[in-house]
Amino acid sequence: MDIRIGNGYDVHALSPGLPMWLGGVRIPSDTGFVAHSDGDVAIHALCDALLGCLALGDIGHLFPDTSDEWKGVDSKLLLTKVVSLVQGRGYVIGNVDITIALQKPKLAPHIAAMRRVLAGILGVAEDCVSVKATTTERLGFVGRCEGCEVWASALIRRD
Ligand code: MG
Repeated sequence: MDIRIGNGYDVHALSPGLPMWLGGVRIPSDTGFVAHSDGDVAIHALCDALLGCLALGDIGHLFPDTSDEWKGVDSKLLLTKVVSLVQGRGYVIGNVDITIALQKPKLAPHIAAMRRVLAGILGVAEDCVSVKATTTERLGFVGRCEGCEVWASALIRRD
């Protein structure tokens, strides 16, 4: 069995009055992410983890923020395309693990919905999708509510 792992990392700045999308879910919040796409920083990190498994570059390379094609795009569509790339090379997704650092709002009420949405796109069971959230105890740019930071890991396999 051929097993590959990858990791991804992304940051987006927060600004008042923008929609907040995280893990494919709209989060009620008075701030949202500044971005060319919908700013779903969790999905972006996850895409990079999956691309990293196969050394396929990063989403900035695949979906350039200079292109009108990707302006305001639903990041779930980007993830769908990345999953197709992985599957097109004969791999299936094993499991993924995502850690979101955000000072507010609290994400606990939304974790189950994120796992459900992401599992659907990835074509895996919900127990193969881990989403964890933490604050940074008010330290750094996350703690000052200036942005959100996300790390993701992915494992894929070819039987
Ligand atoms: Mg991004």
